[in-house]
Amino acid sequence: MANTKSRRAFFKKAITAGAMLTPLSATFGAGLTQAMERNTYYSKPAELKITEVQCAFIRFGSSLFVKIQTDQGIYGCGEGVDAVAGTYHFVKALEWRLKGKNPLNVHRLFDDLRKSGIFQGAQAGMYVAVLSAIETALWDIAGKALGVPVYQLLGGKFRDKIRVYCDTALYQRNLPTPEDFANAATEAKKMGFTAIKFDLDQRNDPKKYDSYNWTASPGELKRMVDQVTAAREAVGPEIDICCDMHGRYDGVTGQQIAKRLEPLNLMWLEEPIPAENPEAYKIISESTTTPICAGENLYLAYGFRRLLEMGAIDIIMPDLQKTGGLGEGQRIANLASLYYVPFAPHMVASYLGAMASCHVCASVPNFMILEWQMYFHTDAMYKEIVKFDGPMVENGFITLSEKPGIGVDINEEGMKKYAAPGYPFFK
Ligand code: MG
Repeated sequence: MANTKSRRAFFKKAITAGAMLTPLSATFGAGLTQAMERNTYYSKPAELKITEVQCAFIRFGSSLFVKIQTDQGIYGCGEGVDAVAGTYHFVKALEWRLKGKNPLNVHRLFDDLRKSGIFQGAQAGMYVAVLSAIETALWDIAGKALGVPVYQLLGGKFRDKIRVYCDTALYQRNLPTPEDFANAATEAKKMGFTAIKFDLDQRNDPKKYDSYNWTASPGELKRMVDQVTAAREAVGPEIDICCDMHGRYDGVTGQQIAKRLEPLNLMWLEEPIPAENPEAYKIISESTTTPICAGENLYLAYGFRRLLEMGAIDIIMPDLQKTGGLGEGQRIANLASLYYVPFAPHMVASYLGAMASCHVCASVPNFMILEWQMYFHTDAMYKEIVKFDGPMVENGFITLSEKPGIGVDINEEGMKKYAAPGYPFFK
């Protein structure tokens, strides 16, 4: 480990020598000393080399954590979600392509791994979700090596605080009633959130005639409208409400529910139909004043190109732990901004993924809102698996980390007891 911090050592010597004549702080103020203490300059960042890519899985394999080690003792952390189960050996296959490379060339390494995988599925799915975790860890290393937060490497920030909406997690309850919706909305508002999300799809709804056909019955449509009406009445007109249908319905249901929810003034209706058909999205979007949002099941900027070009969608919600990582997330946001489309990332990660997403959200003008999960408040695991400073969220906003890198570390000790069975743990 050659963590010589040579520039800092030089300044320290200068201070010692200078102190015999005039105290340096008297000349330059305490700010100089503080700035030097804040910054960590590794001996030669330009000569950093990747030595190892380790990984671990939690949540039955649906959350991947990557740690990339270097020859100067700096490591970077990244997270991938949903499309990552069973990918341990794939991570190790990518490790061979990364070993010995300089982690500071983030875009180049991303491009190398992408283009060398185009016959292996590097267009979408597990390949890109794993790449998202690796790419994020590279930004973390770059920030730590250069002594700056990741948003700075992405071109700086438009904002210091990131507005989040709270996913109420009512999907964990069997057949939630309109009263459950009202109570969850009231609770989230009391916690300081200014925006709330509910799920409207219920596979086991007794009013559903057929579990394979995706046309909602009149009873299902009424149930959905009653639930959202109860939430709206509970929180009043100034709280944003969005509703997710998880891509489980057909076009006619998408149009009907979007139309019926118009009086409730939603922030958006999310994935009324599956992700693959931009033409079908355009039909729904043009049929309603309810804003239509999609994107958590799309990959890379390519996945968003046609939707945006066609004007098929009002708001995009890429998942930065799945769609390609932080650089690709910023590229998607910038692409959307050409069409005046807001960027509202999906987020089902740990606080590491949440803060990594925040750096991108800070770096683009068209950021709208980021997803936040009630599990951060109710499930102790989410506090134990990471290390971070300060409160996670306050009054519906995450304060952007100013620490070098992402600003949230993996707590291996805390994560160990939640490790997915059958997977190696940081090997
Ligand atoms: Mg969703």
